[in-house]
Amino acid sequence: MSKFNRVALIGRSGHQQVSETIARLTEYLRDAGLEVWIEDQLAELGGFSEFRHCALEHIGQKVDLAVVVGGDGSLLGASRALARFDTPVLGINRGSLGFLTDIRPSEALEKVGQALLGEFTEETRSLNSVEVIRADQVIASATALNDVVLHKGQSARMLGFDLCIDDQFVYSSRSDGLIVSTPTGSTAYSLSAGGPIMHPRLEALVVVPMFPHTLNARPIVVPANFVISVTVTEKHQALPQVSCDGQTHISLLLGDQIIIRQSDERLTLLHPPGYSYYEVCRSKLQWGGRIEPQQDNE
Ligand code: NAP
Repeated sequence: MSKFNRVALIGRSGHQQVSETIARLTEYLRDAGLEVWIEDQLAELGGFSEFRHCALEHIGQKVDLAVVVGGDGSLLGASRALARFDTPVLGINRGSLGFLTDIRPSEALEKVGQALLGEFTEETRSLNSVEVIRADQVIASATALNDVVLHKGQSARMLGFDLCIDDQFVYSSRSDGLIVSTPTGSTAYSLSAGGPIMHPRLEALVVVPMFPHTLNARPIVVPANFVISVTVTEKHQALPQVSCDGQTHISLLLGDQIIIRQSDERLTLLHPPGYSYYEVCRSKLQWGGRIEPQQDNE
Protein backbone atom coordinates (compact mmCIF):
# COMPACT_ATOMS: atom_id res chain seq x y z
CA MET A 1 0.00 0.00 0.00
CA SER A 2 1.57 3.27 -1.13
CA LYS A 3 1.90 6.13 1.36
CA PHE A 4 1.57 8.57 -1.56
CA ASN A 5 -1.06 8.52 -4.31
CA ARG A 6 -0.25 11.50 -6.55
CA VAL A 7 3.37 12.09 -7.50
CA ALA A 8 4.88 15.05 -9.36
CA LEU A 9 8.01 14.63 -11.46
CA ILE A 10 10.10 17.76 -11.88
CA GLY A 11 13.37 18.21 -13.76
CA ARG A 12 15.22 20.40 -16.21
CA SER A 13 13.69 20.15 -19.67
CA GLY A 14 16.07 19.56 -22.58
CA HIS A 15 18.51 17.49 -20.48
CA GLN A 16 18.74 14.02 -21.94
CA GLN A 17 19.77 12.14 -18.79
CA VAL A 18 17.06 13.87 -16.77
CA SER A 19 14.48 12.85 -19.39
CA GLU A 20 15.71 9.23 -19.30
CA THR A 21 15.31 9.00 -15.53
CA ILE A 22 11.91 10.73 -15.69
CA ALA A 23 10.79 8.26 -18.39
CA ARG A 24 11.73 5.28 -16.17
CA LEU A 25 9.95 6.85 -13.21
CA THR A 26 6.74 7.62 -15.12
CA GLU A 27 6.50 3.96 -16.20
CA TYR A 28 7.26 2.72 -12.69
CA LEU A 29 4.74 5.01 -11.01
CA ARG A 30 2.04 4.32 -13.59
CA ASP A 31 2.54 0.57 -13.17
CA ALA A 32 2.17 1.10 -9.41
CA GLY A 33 -1.25 2.65 -10.11
CA LEU A 34 -0.31 6.16 -8.99
CA GLU A 35 -1.43 9.47 -10.49
CA VAL A 36 1.57 11.08 -12.19
CA TRP A 37 1.92 14.82 -12.71
CA ILE A 38 4.69 16.42 -14.77
CA GLU A 39 5.83 20.02 -14.57
CA ASP A 40 4.58 21.93 -17.66
CA GLN A 41 7.86 22.71 -19.43
CA LEU A 42 9.22 19.22 -18.93
CA ALA A 43 5.94 17.73 -20.20
CA GLU A 44 6.10 19.82 -23.35
CA LEU A 45 9.81 19.75 -24.17
CA GLY A 46 10.64 16.33 -22.72
CA GLY A 47 7.84 14.48 -24.54
CA PHE A 48 5.65 13.73 -21.49
CA SER A 49 2.56 15.64 -22.56
CA GLU A 50 0.37 12.50 -22.37
CA PHE A 51 0.58 12.84 -18.57
CA ARG A 52 -1.31 15.30 -16.40
CA HIS A 53 0.77 18.46 -16.34
CA CYS A 54 0.78 21.73 -14.48
CA ALA A 55 2.90 24.85 -13.91
CA LEU A 56 5.60 24.46 -11.26
CA GLU A 57 3.96 27.18 -9.12
CA HIS A 58 0.77 25.10 -8.74
CA ILE A 59 1.95 21.51 -8.96
CA GLY A 60 2.39 21.26 -5.18
CA GLN A 61 -1.36 21.44 -4.64
CA LYS A 62 -2.01 18.57 -7.07
CA VAL A 63 0.23 15.96 -5.46
CA ASP A 64 1.32 14.51 -2.15
CA LEU A 65 4.95 13.80 -3.19
CA ALA A 66 7.35 15.55 -5.59
CA VAL A 67 10.41 13.85 -7.06
CA VAL A 68 13.00 16.25 -8.43
CA VAL A 69 15.48 14.87 -10.95
CA GLY A 70 18.52 17.12 -11.41
CA GLY A 71 21.15 18.86 -9.34
CA ASP A 72 20.83 20.97 -6.22
CA GLY A 73 19.95 23.92 -8.46
CA SER A 74 16.84 22.08 -9.72
CA LEU A 75 15.89 21.12 -6.18
CA LEU A 76 16.25 24.74 -5.00
CA GLY A 77 13.96 26.02 -7.75
CA ALA A 78 11.35 23.32 -7.16
CA SER A 79 11.48 23.64 -3.37
CA ARG A 80 10.73 27.36 -3.39
CA ALA A 81 7.54 26.54 -5.32
CA LEU A 82 6.60 23.44 -3.30
CA ALA A 83 7.26 24.61 0.27
CA ARG A 84 4.09 26.71 0.42
CA PHE A 85 2.00 23.55 -0.13
CA ASP A 86 4.10 21.52 2.30
CA THR A 87 4.66 18.91 -0.43
CA PRO A 88 7.49 16.54 0.54
CA VAL A 89 10.40 16.46 -1.90
CA LEU A 90 12.73 13.61 -2.86
CA GLY A 91 15.81 14.42 -4.98
CA ILE A 92 17.53 12.22 -7.57
CA ASN A 93 20.92 13.55 -8.56
CA ARG A 94 21.48 14.36 -12.21
CA GLY A 95 23.60 17.42 -11.38
CA SER A 96 27.30 17.61 -10.67
CA LEU A 97 27.39 17.81 -6.85
CA GLY A 98 24.00 16.66 -5.55
CA PHE A 99 24.41 17.73 -1.93
CA LEU A 100 20.63 18.00 -1.55
CA THR A 101 19.59 15.53 -4.27
CA ASP A 102 21.11 12.49 -2.65
CA ILE A 103 19.75 9.51 -4.62
CA ARG A 104 21.93 8.08 -7.39
CA PRO A 105 20.11 7.69 -10.76
CA SER A 106 20.94 3.96 -10.82
CA GLU A 107 19.01 3.56 -7.55
CA ALA A 108 16.10 5.83 -8.51
CA LEU A 109 13.39 3.15 -8.85
CA GLU A 110 14.49 1.24 -5.75
CA LYS A 111 14.62 4.37 -3.56
CA VAL A 112 11.39 5.86 -4.88
CA GLY A 113 9.77 2.45 -4.27
CA GLN A 114 10.99 2.51 -0.67
CA ALA A 115 9.69 6.06 -0.22
CA LEU A 116 6.27 5.01 -1.50
CA LEU A 117 6.22 2.34 1.23
CA GLY A 118 7.03 5.00 3.82
CA GLU A 119 10.68 3.99 4.16
CA PHE A 120 12.52 7.31 4.32
CA THR A 121 14.08 9.82 6.67
CA GLU A 122 12.16 13.09 6.84
CA GLU A 123 13.75 16.47 7.50
CA THR A 124 12.34 19.97 7.78
CA ARG A 125 14.40 22.73 6.17
CA SER A 126 13.84 26.43 6.85
CA LEU A 127 13.59 29.04 4.09
CA ASN A 128 14.29 32.76 4.29
CA SER A 129 12.07 35.45 2.86
CA VAL A 130 13.22 38.77 1.47
CA GLU A 131 11.36 42.01 0.88
CA VAL A 132 12.77 45.07 -0.88
CA ILE A 133 11.36 48.34 0.41
CA ARG A 134 11.54 51.55 -1.66
CA ALA A 135 9.90 54.78 -0.48
CA ASP A 136 7.99 52.87 2.23
CA GLN A 137 6.51 50.40 -0.29
CA VAL A 138 7.36 46.72 -0.67
CA ILE A 139 8.41 46.63 -4.35
CA ALA A 140 9.47 42.97 -4.53
CA SER A 141 9.56 39.83 -2.42
CA ALA A 142 10.90 36.31 -2.77
CA THR A 143 11.99 33.26 -0.80
CA ALA A 144 15.26 31.33 -0.65
CA LEU A 145 16.11 27.82 0.52
CA ASN A 146 19.86 28.47 0.42
CA ASP A 147 20.66 32.14 0.51
CA VAL A 148 19.70 35.74 -0.05
CA VAL A 149 22.72 37.51 -1.55
CA LEU A 150 23.22 41.26 -1.85
CA HIS A 151 25.80 41.79 -4.57
CA LYS A 152 27.09 44.50 -6.85
CA GLY A 153 25.47 43.27 -10.06
CA GLN A 154 27.44 43.96 -13.24
CA SER A 155 29.83 46.37 -11.56
CA ALA A 156 33.48 45.82 -10.61
CA ARG A 157 33.19 48.60 -8.01
CA MET A 158 32.51 48.27 -4.30
CA LEU A 159 29.02 48.27 -2.89
CA GLY A 160 28.20 50.54 0.06
CA PHE A 161 25.57 49.40 2.56
CA ASP A 162 24.55 49.46 6.23
CA LEU A 163 23.68 46.28 8.13
CA CYS A 164 21.22 46.15 11.04
CA ILE A 165 20.23 43.02 12.92
CA ASP A 166 16.96 43.12 14.86
CA ASP A 167 16.85 46.93 14.72
CA GLN A 168 20.40 47.31 16.01
CA PHE A 169 23.08 48.86 13.84
CA VAL A 170 25.89 46.35 13.19
CA TYR A 171 28.24 47.97 10.65
CA SER A 172 28.62 49.95 7.47
CA SER A 173 30.50 48.14 4.74
CA ARG A 174 32.12 48.75 1.40
CA SER A 175 32.62 45.36 -0.18
CA ASP A 176 31.28 42.98 -2.84
CA GLY A 177 28.14 42.41 -0.76
CA LEU A 178 26.67 40.12 1.83
CA ILE A 179 25.29 36.57 2.01
CA VAL A 180 22.45 35.74 4.39
CA SER A 181 22.20 31.98 4.46
CA THR A 182 19.96 29.33 5.99
CA PRO A 183 21.58 26.22 7.50
CA THR A 184 20.80 24.49 4.16
CA GLY A 185 22.73 27.17 2.26
CA SER A 186 25.66 27.02 4.65
CA THR A 187 27.31 24.37 2.45
CA ALA A 188 26.88 26.49 -0.71
CA TYR A 189 27.96 30.11 -1.42
CA SER A 190 28.35 30.92 2.29
CA LEU A 191 30.89 28.08 2.62
CA SER A 192 32.94 29.51 -0.27
CA ALA A 193 32.94 32.91 1.46
CA GLY A 194 34.31 31.46 4.73
CA GLY A 195 31.03 30.87 6.54
CA PRO A 196 30.51 28.00 9.01
CA ILE A 197 28.68 24.78 8.21
CA MET A 198 25.41 24.83 10.15
CA HIS A 199 23.55 21.61 10.86
CA PRO A 200 20.21 21.72 9.01
CA ARG A 201 18.29 21.29 12.28
CA LEU A 202 19.70 24.54 13.66
CA GLU A 203 17.24 27.45 13.90
CA ALA A 204 19.68 30.15 12.81
CA LEU A 205 20.82 32.43 10.01
CA VAL A 206 24.38 33.28 9.11
CA VAL A 207 25.43 36.68 7.76
CA VAL A 208 28.63 36.40 5.73
CA PRO A 209 30.50 39.41 4.33
CA MET A 210 31.79 39.12 0.75
CA PHE A 211 35.27 40.50 0.14
CA PRO A 212 35.15 43.42 2.63
CA HIS A 213 38.16 45.75 2.43
CA THR A 214 39.15 45.16 6.05
CA LEU A 215 41.03 42.54 8.06
CA ASN A 216 38.43 41.96 10.74
CA ALA A 217 35.07 41.20 9.11
CA ARG A 218 33.73 37.82 10.21
CA PRO A 219 30.57 35.80 9.59
CA ILE A 220 28.01 36.05 12.38
CA VAL A 221 25.40 33.40 13.25
CA VAL A 222 22.19 34.80 14.71
CA PRO A 223 18.91 33.26 15.94
CA ALA A 224 16.49 32.48 13.13
CA ASN A 225 13.83 34.87 14.49
CA PHE A 226 16.14 37.89 14.13
CA VAL A 227 15.39 40.28 11.27
CA ILE A 228 18.27 41.30 9.01
CA SER A 229 18.03 44.72 7.38
CA VAL A 230 20.44 46.01 4.75
CA THR A 231 20.25 49.52 3.26
CA VAL A 232 22.07 50.53 0.08
CA THR A 233 23.97 53.70 1.00
CA GLU A 234 25.86 54.55 -2.20
CA LYS A 235 24.65 55.33 -5.70
CA HIS A 236 25.85 52.81 -8.27
CA GLN A 237 25.94 53.08 -12.06
CA ALA A 238 25.40 49.36 -12.49
CA LEU A 239 22.44 48.42 -10.34
CA PRO A 240 23.28 46.25 -7.35
CA GLN A 241 21.04 43.21 -6.94
CA VAL A 242 19.59 40.93 -4.36
CA SER A 243 19.46 37.29 -5.50
CA CYS A 244 17.65 34.33 -3.99
CA ASP A 245 19.41 30.97 -4.44
CA GLY A 246 21.23 32.62 -7.37
CA GLN A 247 18.01 32.12 -9.35
CA THR A 248 15.69 35.09 -8.77
CA HIS A 249 17.09 38.61 -8.96
CA ILE A 250 15.83 42.03 -7.86
CA SER A 251 17.64 45.24 -8.93
CA LEU A 252 18.29 47.86 -6.26
CA LEU A 253 18.58 51.65 -6.06
CA LEU A 254 20.23 53.97 -3.56
CA GLY A 255 18.24 53.97 -0.30
CA ASP A 256 16.52 50.62 -0.93
CA GLN A 257 16.10 48.56 2.21
CA ILE A 258 16.32 44.76 2.08
CA ILE A 259 14.55 42.92 4.88
CA ILE A 260 15.46 39.27 5.36
CA ARG A 261 13.75 37.02 7.88
CA GLN A 262 12.97 33.36 8.33
CA SER A 263 9.97 32.45 6.19
CA ASP A 264 6.85 30.81 7.61
CA GLU A 265 7.25 28.23 4.83
CA ARG A 266 9.17 25.02 5.47
CA LEU A 267 10.47 22.40 3.11
CA THR A 268 9.94 18.74 3.91
CA LEU A 269 12.93 16.96 2.42
CA LEU A 270 12.90 13.17 2.20
CA HIS A 271 16.05 11.07 2.16
CA PRO A 272 16.51 7.34 1.56
CA PRO A 273 16.80 5.09 4.62
CA GLY A 274 20.26 5.25 6.20
CA TYR A 275 20.81 8.89 5.19
CA SER A 276 23.56 10.62 7.16
CA TYR A 277 24.29 14.35 6.87
CA TYR A 278 27.89 13.71 7.84
CA GLU A 279 28.27 11.03 5.18
CA VAL A 280 27.10 13.60 2.62
CA CYS A 281 29.66 16.10 3.98
CA ARG A 282 32.36 13.41 3.75
CA SER A 283 31.51 12.33 0.23
CA LYS A 284 30.53 15.66 -1.34
CA LEU A 285 32.78 18.10 0.54
CA GLN A 286 35.62 15.60 0.83
CA TRP A 287 35.79 15.67 4.59
CA GLY A 288 38.16 13.35 6.32
CA GLY A 289 40.28 12.57 3.25
CA ARG A 290 43.55 11.02 4.38
CA ILE A 291 46.80 12.72 3.56
CA GLU A 292 48.85 9.88 2.10
CA PRO A 293 52.56 9.84 3.03
CA GLN A 294 54.84 10.56 0.07
CA GLN A 295 56.75 7.51 -1.22
CA ASP A 296 60.50 7.97 -1.05
CA ASN A 297 62.00 5.60 -3.59
CA GLU A 298 65.63 6.42 -2.96
P1 NAP B 1 25.40 27.02 -9.82
O1 NAP B 1 26.15 28.28 -9.71
O2 NAP B 1 25.19 26.43 -11.17
O3 NAP B 1 26.07 25.87 -8.92
C1 NAP B 1 26.33 26.02 -7.57
C2 NAP B 1 26.97 24.74 -7.04
O4 NAP B 1 26.62 24.65 -5.66
C3 NAP B 1 26.47 23.45 -7.71
O5 NAP B 1 27.53 22.51 -7.74
C4 NAP B 1 25.37 22.98 -6.77
O6 NAP B 1 25.17 21.56 -6.80
C5 NAP B 1 25.96 23.39 -5.43
N1 NAP B 1 24.95 23.65 -4.39
C6 NAP B 1 23.78 24.31 -4.49
N2 NAP B 1 23.16 24.32 -3.30
C7 NAP B 1 23.96 23.65 -2.42
C8 NAP B 1 23.87 23.35 -1.05
N3 NAP B 1 22.82 23.72 -0.30
N4 NAP B 1 24.90 22.68 -0.47
C9 NAP B 1 25.98 22.32 -1.18
N5 NAP B 1 26.12 22.58 -2.51
C10 NAP B 1 25.12 23.24 -3.11
O7 NAP B 1 23.96 27.31 -9.14
P2 NAP B 1 22.80 26.37 -8.67
O8 NAP B 1 23.14 24.92 -8.88
O9 NAP B 1 21.51 26.92 -9.22
O10 NAP B 1 22.83 26.66 -7.09
C11 NAP B 1 22.53 27.96 -6.61
C12 NAP B 1 23.45 28.23 -5.45
O11 NAP B 1 24.76 28.36 -5.95
C13 NAP B 1 23.20 29.52 -4.71
O12 NAP B 1 22.20 29.42 -3.73
C14 NAP B 1 24.56 29.78 -4.07
O13 NAP B 1 24.61 29.27 -2.75
C15 NAP B 1 25.52 28.96 -4.92
N6 NAP B 1 26.57 29.79 -5.48
C16 NAP B 1 27.85 29.54 -5.06
C17 NAP B 1 28.90 30.32 -5.49
C18 NAP B 1 30.27 30.03 -4.97
O14 NAP B 1 30.43 29.08 -4.20
N7 NAP B 1 31.27 30.83 -5.32
C19 NAP B 1 28.67 31.36 -6.40
C20 NAP B 1 27.37 31.58 -6.84
C21 NAP B 1 26.31 30.78 -6.36
P3 NAP B 1 24.62 20.80 -8.13
O15 NAP B 1 25.83 20.62 -8.99
O16 NAP B 1 24.09 19.49 -7.62
O17 NAP B 1 23.58 21.69 -8.73
